[in-house]
Amino acid sequence: MSGNGGRLALTSRRLRGVDNLDEGRWRAVESRDVSAAGVFVYAVSTTGVYCRPGCGSRRPLRRNVEYFATASDAARAGYRACRRCQPDESQVSDPALASVISLCRQLEEADTAVDVGAFAAQCGYSERHLRRRFSQVLGVPVASYARAQRAERVRRALHSKVPVTQAIYEAGYGSSRAFYEHGAFRLGMAPGTYRAGGSGERIGFTSLSTPIGMILAASTARGVCAVRIGSDEAALERELAAEFPNAVLERDDDGLAELVRVLADAVRGEAEAALLPLDLEGTAFQMRVWEALRGVPSGCTLTYSEVAARIGAPRAVRAVGSACAANPAALVVPCHRVIRRDGSLGGYRWGLEAKEALLEAEGARRSP
Ligand SMILES: [Zn+2]
Repeated sequence: MSGNGGRLALTSRRLRGVDNLDEGRWRAVESRDVSAAGVFVYAVSTTGVYCRPGCGSRRPLRRNVEYFATASDAARAGYRACRRCQPDESQVSDPALASVISLCRQLEEADTAVDVGAFAAQCGYSERHLRRRFSQVLGVPVASYARAQRAERVRRALHSKVPVTQAIYEAGYGSSRAFYEHGAFRLGMAPGTYRAGGSGERIGFTSLSTPIGMILAASTARGVCAVRIGSDEAALERELAAEFPNAVLERDDDGLAELVRVLADAVRGEAEAALLPLDLEGTAFQMRVWEALRGVPSGCTLTYSEVAARIGAPRAVRAVGSACAANPAALVVPCHRVIRRDGSLGGYRWGLEAKEALLEAEGARRSP
């Protein structure tokens, strides 16, 4: 990705939530911490076996480890139980830990927010005590865990090809606003290291012909990682390959049919592509800009300086322009909704005609 957002650029932002959660889980696996037994299981791709944390079997390589909330989740994913630690049998004798585990299960299933205070009282603990114990065992606070689980549910729902908005509601976000404030956008961002060393990561791509040109869209298992607009499909594919040199790129028209539908509707101003889960990499500054753009509703526009003010960097107007120009995911990060103060369109990575057509389709008016 070119353009690092000028002097304001920091290091690539680390994912919060899932990332920290996995960090805590890995620590428990690595140190054979038995206190996390029952909270989750880990599966090892090279052996096909899943274990409870604390299992005395050979320590796996971190890159081969996958985590599941429950033994049955791991079994459903095709793993078999370890004979040594027998992860299917629950052996939790500590009642506080049992409460933490029960809270985990509720957060994994919840369609709506879980009342932690009420649940703690039901178990005979203060809310504060239960939350502290939860953080100790999971390595992240309740809120982070809940966010991670919601995003996980969205990913699962998207995999099963239900309509995107329905997936968002079913995952318990309640509103699309909550989704893009706390949801997949944050969670979808892989740590910089993931993709840099991520040789073999599978990226599916597809294309569609639209009134504003050919659109090439690509997605990892976590979310959309590229949406490019152009006139020459082969050239777009070459650009994608250049952007992800270590990935395995595969055309997947069937798997991404839902994405195509949303993008086609979005070009006509009839769907909000900004609700799709994302998997982007960028500098901390770019992330802040792109996140802010996701909060600009269809039909509205902001000026570059308004975006700068929104992210708390009112003087970084030019850097905002650079971040817009570096946006790797057209429509999903709606950088076309940023215009100049005098009402002129400014720039657009994919051509001003496309920008104008999109704003017209959305019936854009100035944001109040
Ligand atoms: Zn085991």
